[in-house]
Amino acid sequence: MKNIAVIGAGTMGNGIAHTFAQFGYQVQLIDISESALNKAITIISKNLDRMIAKEKITPNEKVKTLANITTHTSIKEGVKYANLVVEAATENKNLKLKIFKELSEICSEDTILATNTSSISITEIAAATNKPERVIGMHFMNPVPIMKLVEIISGYNTANSVMETIVALTKKINKIPVEVNDYPGFVANRILMPMINESIETLYNKVAGVVEIDTVMKLGMAHPMGPLQLADFIGLDVCLSILNVMYEGFKNPKYAPCPLLVNMVNANKLGVKSGEGFYDYSENKKAQKVAKMFA
Ligand code: NAD
Repeated sequence: MKNIAVIGAGTMGNGIAHTFAQFGYQVQLIDISESALNKAITIISKNLDRMIAKEKITPNEKVKTLANITTHTSIKEGVKYANLVVEAATENKNLKLKIFKELSEICSEDTILATNTSSISITEIAAATNKPERVIGMHFMNPVPIMKLVEIISGYNTANSVMETIVALTKKINKIPVEVNDYPGFVANRILMPMINESIETLYNKVAGVVEIDTVMKLGMAHPMGPLQLADFIGLDVCLSILNVMYEGFKNPKYAPCPLLVNMVNANKLGVKSGEGFYDYSENKKAQKVAKMFA
């Protein structure tokens, strides 16, 4: 395992690229948007500076990490030498099916195709390819350079050898793999998203305000951040997509997204990444506060 292509340079893609590059892998970071790629490199550089300040890495390691990353706007070019592809593009089923179909046509026979999807069926994504045994879920947590967990999800046809390789790789980048089965939302989001959705319902029903809801959960349940702030940090569009996948996948109304969440996404209030969600990030103050919590 030497070359790792990461598709999508957003919140997760830049963290995944950072982590693999820091551990010496050659990373090809791919996005359709040139500006997303530029932004990703800036974010990775700043996050590495933060690690230097905390004496977790040396300035020389920062230089080496950045040198291990190349950027590409073409999937075909970016995955040419990939031993592993980690797809972290927008949480949209049709988009992921299209990307995986293309990957299975252009990647070499033994390339492992992993997806960082939060909720979409690995088996369904694998079915879009001509090598479903090489498709697997590798669900990193946000922010990737800091969070230890990676949920590993085998699809119906995933080969045991592929799962073993990915478990071993996860340990090599100093993370802890947990194997789970392929059902909507897997484990992390099946439990987290109903809590976030219920927090939004609580706000929508005017039981309490944003700060009050988050304070109850922080001080009362010892959560490091409140669920509304966490939703802002994840991205409200991502939360909505995950809830919709679980709602449709289980045909259970308990996963129906709160109308307030739907309205906010339609209004492009997506949280930290758009500058406003449940909190205002316009002057970057709150964003910095969130970043500090993970520093
Ligand atoms: P994001 O919106 O921050 O970034 C998505 C990126 O994908 C954008 O830069 C976009 O330009 C790019 N993209 C879209 N179509 C593409 C294509 N065809 N080819 C290449 N790039 C393309 O999203 P995110 O929060 O980073 O989420 C990415 C994936 O990670 C999703 O599947 C999401 O469910 C999952 N995930 C997100 C979180 C989180 O906390 N945000 C946590 C775990 C997993």
